[in-house]
Amino acid sequence: MNDFDGPPPVSPMSAEAVEVFEKNKVRRSRYVCSCGHPLGYHKTSSDGISSCTPFKANCSCVEVHPVLEASDLRKFQYATSESGIGMDHALSKGYVASKSAGTSMTWLATGGERGCCEKCKSEEKDIYPIAIDARTKRPVNPGFSGHVNRLMCWDCFRELWVDV
Ligand SMILES: [Zn+2]
Ligand SMILES: [Zn+2]
Ligand SMILES: [Zn+2]
Repeated sequence: MNDFDGPPPVSPMSAEAVEVFEKNKVRRSRYVCSCGHPLGYHKTSSDGISSCTPFKANCSCVEVHPVLEASDLRKFQYATSESGIGMDHALSKGYVASKSAGTSMTWLATGGERGCCEKCKSEEKDIYPIAIDARTKRPVNPGFSGHVNRLMCWDCFRELWVDV
């Protein structure tokens, strides 16, 4: 089997190279991390640990994990509060605020308006952003924003809660 069948890839020497680069740059700059904040607020240090510093919220995100492309990033400034699950999650707050304002968003995993569960990949079930404590691998204590953040259906979430 030859993986290099088909048309050749874009060469850096070609006329469209800069165009492709610019397009990708703009796209990536509109990505939102699963913590609920734009990728632009994230920095990764030389030891590979990331940090997220939005203007209006504290965030414990240590893993850059783009999940959403949004046309208005100003909507993604919320803090994760209380349980850090569903509507208490910063990503939910930004998402619903954007929806309410009618700004366009695309889930990166599906390329559509409905995201999918990161565990079972279901696109039919409703998904919930969940803030997770990296140390305990469980949902965070109330009021803490979570080291890693995952999108899960309720069934997969309950499994995580029970199994880990
Ligand atoms: Zn993040
Ligand atoms: Zn964040
Ligand atoms: Zn699931």
